Amino acid sequence: MSADLEVLLRGPKASGLARKALDAMENNCVWPTPLNFELWLHYVAAKESPVGKAIARMLEAGEPFTDSAAETLAAQHLPRVRLNGELLTAGNALSKELDTVSRAIESARESSEAYGEQLASANQSLDDTAPPAIKAMVETLANATQRVQRENKTLEDKLADTTAEVTRLREHLEMVRRDAMTDGLTNLANRKAFDEALERAVDAADVSGEPLTLAVLDIDHFKTFNDSWGHQTGDQVIRFVAGVLARAGGSPRTAARYGGEEFALILPGVDAVAAMAILEEIREEVGSRMLKRRSTQQDLGAVTVSVGLAERLAGEPQSSLIERADAALYASKRAGRNRTTNAEKRISAAA
Ligand code: C2E
Repeated sequence: MSADLEVLLRGPKASGLARKALDAMENNCVWPTPLNFELWLHYVAAKESPVGKAIARMLEAGEPFTDSAAETLAAQHLPRVRLNGELLTAGNALSKELDTVSRAIESARESSEAYGEQLASANQSLDDTAPPAIKAMVETLANATQRVQRENKTLEDKLADTTAEVTRLREHLEMVRRDAMTDGLTNLANRKAFDEALERAVDAADVSGEPLTLAVLDIDHFKTFNDSWGHQTGDQVIRFVAGVLARAGGSPRTAARYGGEEFALILPGVDAVAAMAILEEIREEVGSRMLKRRSTQQDLGAVTVSVGLAERLAGEPQSSLIERADAALYASKRAGRNRTTNAEKRISAAA
């Protein structure tokens, strides 16, 4: 966020801008989620900012302001998500430094303790015949060493406090980062996390030469379902499909909510034949469950999903892989839905 915008959003005009953002969201049928609100606040406060321009362009083109569009905008233009990652790295570096300093102080304490013990025993072994000047000197040295030991102890305690504070901060940042990568409704990876996971999977496949398959799934007739039963029940259905997908996911696989009612599953080390079996199992599990409307216990029937999958071709860019899986999904839809289609094995020229 620019410094000017920061000042504006905390100045006397802030409440007016917030109302304006909510009005604009309502007029454009945008849900008042915290993320949407933050983006639309940028839009009303600074139409010339990158977020302002992007939203204006979407409005002009009549594009719907979906969750995934909001997440993409936030990842591109709101610096916080990036910043969290950077702070986390800085926190890790700081913790390492503190560990090193802590070890240095610990070893200084150990040697001054040993030195102190030697001086104490030297002091005891000096009998009455020892020259008073030497006795006084040994005593002074023993006192000075005790002082150093006390100071080292204070330093060690302070350092332990600071280290604990940095650990807390790091854990908090890790939590914020996890939140920023997680879809709030389903707890699956969100679009941003999906993009990053796919990039990593493509790089890893380039190195290992192992197969990599991407599956995209879309709930059939979801809009009709939502219109008949309402958004809340629609959300539950999204959570239900997400649950089935999450059970099939888990490292090294990534299950993600890709858009509104669209999901993705990244399958490293899995070829198209094995992926077809996995996705058919998921599709059958989704379709076999009779759902009930929780509020009234009315039968909702079953929901089905259409699936497209694409095994990555040698050297294929990420965008082409996504495009082929998407095309296969639409082939499933065209062929009557509730089925899985394997993508054509031709790198997309448009990607
Ligand atoms: P949820 O309501 O938070 O339920 C989480 C899990 O608790 C469910 O995971 C299921 O294992 C268990 N559970 C909750 N309520 C019931 C119940 O009445 N009977 C049984 N046998 N188990 C129950 P699951 O099945 O993977 O579902 C995940 C989410 O999908 C649910 O979260 C809910 O949001 C949605 N969902 C699943 N089935 C239905 C359904 O029949 N109707 C509606 N409206 N939503 C459903």
